[in-house]
Amino acid sequence: MTQSATGHVSSTDAGGTYLTVAEVRRETADAVSITFDVPTELQALFDHRAGQFLTVAVPSDRVPHVARCYSLSSAPGSGSTITVKRIDGGYASDWLNTNATSGLSLQLLPPSGHFTVPDPDTDVLLAAAGSGITPVMSILRWILEAGTGNVGLFYANRDRDTTIFAEELDRLAAAHPDRLTIVHWLEDQRGLPSPDGLTSWIDQAHDGDVWTCGPAPFMNLVVSTLGSTRHVHREEYRSLSNDPFAPVEPPASAVSASDGDADGDAARAEVEIDGTVHEISWPRDASLVDTLLALEVDVPYTCREGWCGSCTCKVEEGSVTMKITDALEADDEAEGYILGCQARPTSDTLRIVFD
Ligand SMILES: Cc1cc2nc3c(=O)[nH]c(=O)nc-3n(C[C@H](O)[C@H](O)[C@H](O)COP(=O)(O)OP(=O)(O)OC[C@H]3O[C@@H](n4cnc5c(N)ncnc54)[C@H](O)[C@@H]3O)c2cc1C
Repeated sequence: MTQSATGHVSSTDAGGTYLTVAEVRRETADAVSITFDVPTELQALFDHRAGQFLTVAVPSDRVPHVARCYSLSSAPGSGSTITVKRIDGGYASDWLNTNATSGLSLQLLPPSGHFTVPDPDTDVLLAAAGSGITPVMSILRWILEAGTGNVGLFYANRDRDTTIFAEELDRLAAAHPDRLTIVHWLEDQRGLPSPDGLTSWIDQAHDGDVWTCGPAPFMNLVVSTLGSTRHVHREEYRSLSNDPFAPVEPPASAVSASDGDADGDAARAEVEIDGTVHEISWPRDASLVDTLLALEVDVPYTCREGWCGSCTCKVEEGSVTMKITDALEADDEAEGYILGCQARPTSDTLRIVFD
């Protein structure tokens, strides 16, 4: 099996990298933080940006494994830790809460995702509920450790006992009284988060965009209450329905184009990934990710369903059509960003760049 720079391997092999669990810390009765031991030679591969996620192959008797995404709660440069909350009736979250222990080896895909903040000097407003605190915690820790930005956190939970990172947040608020303000919204005291609660939080907050993560009704409330006055970035938790560790079978048209046998109904594209430019024939009925996989080009992707954003890239010349654009914000699309797993060419020539 050949491991590539993004952690994916050629279209005929299964992907992923095995890392050993260094430490497991119980955060609440239903949430654990799992820290991986990343050997020096894999450090560059597993370096992450604040807000990104890892994809874990969770062992299972029923199928080879169950692939799930988990956000990194650690700040960049401070190790690789994910935090997993047990979901009622859920498979992977229960397995990890029950079985993760130091020494366990797990197969992972490296960090991915675009729920990120440009630099640690940015002033941010963070609105999290429940396990949605995980990517938000990475952003918060990074800004406080590595930058000068101000952080306002609105954090909703059922009660104090189910509040992940409650003690650490208390400690950070005491250590950075001028830069970190926290509103804890506890359901047992105030009911579900309300528009008035969010409005009074934002009215007293500093300037800046909002990053939100939590159950869909909570994020919808954040967007409907704050979206007209602030730019809101959201991270949606879902369970993967396909297996990004499994070999991908690109469509026949992409395979024949890769053999130099395109039937004429293909565009010409220049695709730049990590500074390397690939000149490709791109069949009009195949996605960019599938076409690149058929050519055995190392392209970033995870869900291949249009919602995780791992394959986000920018069209610098030409045009594409996409069925699903869930992972893109309106501003991203206006700036030319596309999802490689959804994009089909609509112009004859294109130039595309992956960050
Ligand atoms: C980018 C990203 C980042 C994420 N980060 C985190 C994180 O930091 N921490 C975290 O805890 N989670 C995170 N998640 C969510 C995580 O990936 C899983 O979705 C979550 O752990 C649930 O997985 P599971 O296997 O335990 O549950 P599943 O088995 O997928 O079940 C989820 C729910 O669906 C119900 N369900 C399952 N199958 C059926 C069915 N056939 N019919 C009806 N109902 C069904 C279950 O009862 C359960 O309530 C993230 C997801 C994404 C996409």
